Amino acid sequence: MKIGIVGGGIVGLTTAYYLLKNGHEVAIFEKHGDVSQQASFGNGGQLSYSYIQPFASRAILKQAIESFFTNLPYAIDRATLIKNASWVHSYVRSCNDRSFYQTAERLHELCVLSESGFAEICRDIPNIQIQKNGKVVLYSSAASFNGNDRWMAFLDKNGIETRKIERKKLKNIDPCLDRVEREYHGGLYTPNDAYIDPVDFSKKLLNYLTVKYQSEFKILFNSQSKLLIKNGVTIGISAAAVNYNFDSVVVCAGLEASKMEIGCNIIPIRGYSLTYSIDNRQSGVSITDYSKRCLLSNAGDSIRATAGADFVGLNDRVPPDKWHELENFAKKIHPHVSNIAPTKWVGFRPLTPSSFPIITKAEKTEGLYINSGHGGLGVTLSVGSARYLVNLIGR
Ligand SMILES: Cc1cc2nc3c(=O)[nH]c(=O)nc-3n(C[C@H](O)[C@H](O)[C@H](O)COP(=O)(O)OP(=O)(O)OC[C@H]3O[C@@H](n4cnc5c(N)ncnc54)[C@H](O)[C@@H]3O)c2cc1C
Repeated sequence: MKIGIVGGGIVGLTTAYYLLKNGHEVAIFEKHGDVSQQASFGNGGQLSYSYIQPFASRAILKQAIESFFTNLPYAIDRATLIKNASWVHSYVRSCNDRSFYQTAERLHELCVLSESGFAEICRDIPNIQIQKNGKVVLYSSAASFNGNDRWMAFLDKNGIETRKIERKKLKNIDPCLDRVEREYHGGLYTPNDAYIDPVDFSKKLLNYLTVKYQSEFKILFNSQSKLLIKNGVTIGISAAAVNYNFDSVVVCAGLEASKMEIGCNIIPIRGYSLTYSIDNRQSGVSITDYSKRCLLSNAGDSIRATAGADFVGLNDRVPPDKWHELENFAKKIHPHVSNIAPTKWVGFRPLTPSSFPIITKAEKTEGLYINSGHGGLGVTLSVGSARYLVNLIGR
């Protein structure tokens, strides 16, 4: 089949990879001049196969209600709440233990598909680097460290390796944790989690597809696109006043799938990052502070600190104190970045109310598929959701 994809982020590219493998002809339409310039740009790069707690949880809802009055740990804007009332309503309905564990189970299934898929991509493109150093989530209070027995049982039941590490032993995971062990009660270590640079990965994948599938694949940059649908049947994509015919179209537009009138209830959740370029030190474990929701990835030649889960629409003005807090977190654990000026980035997670992405054939439109709304786990889930969707499309 001739298939058009709207969106050249990590999800669009991995979808193209599997469609081409399945014998289809593919064209990606991307409104920017390069791949992965939106959510897939400066994110945490975590392949969090083990840390798959949905945003739709009782714990996050409780924090969000507190944040409504204090703006901590999340910024919440009242006008954005009112504007997105239907999303908020569905989100609150998903914040119960039953939905939480059902969603976590489904996310785990996608992660299993993703992990073996990333290995397959690395066999095809050996210069892609996946750093498998694991992840540690640090808890500052005994209550939060010890209060996750049900989650531990869930991980255990699903064969997800997790180790509880007492404060004194944190430095055995990574010597840099010696500097902060006094501040934490302990950590959960998931050795299977990994890191990739999302932009480097996307560019290498694009290069591979362009060379390997010279006549079956193309990408059209600077192509803000619209769906062409006639009498309930998808006939193609229109971009820059040109109509392109396709047998099927896949929407991999992240957040912007919500603007296409195809029933995607997806909203932006703001986050931000600081990236420090360093001189080829050894890569290390990824570190998350559970209560502050800050994350540090150490890729060897760069350290990236990310934070924020703000409900402020597309407002990209992160207050200075938030940047300082993130900077201090990075410097405390990696003092050698103190004299390096970091690169700042603000991005928006495309989040559905349940925290599970929309990976489906459109109900009311023939020939239309959706692979959008991956929230805070789009790098991790990209390959799994691409495989799942391409399986739905068939040959
Ligand atoms: C601060 C932060 C940290 C994160 N950390 C992690 C992490 O550590 N691990 C993880 O797994 N995930 C993480 N995420 C989530 C991850 O970044 C996203 O889930 C993922 O990048 C979504 O990929 P995507 O391809 O669906 O969306 P995008 O990367 O946004 O791609 C969508 C593309 O579609 C294009 N597009 C949209 N509409 C049109 C149109 N009409 N015509 C043409 N092109 C169009 C856009 O230009 C864009 O390039 C993080 C997100 C943030 C904000």
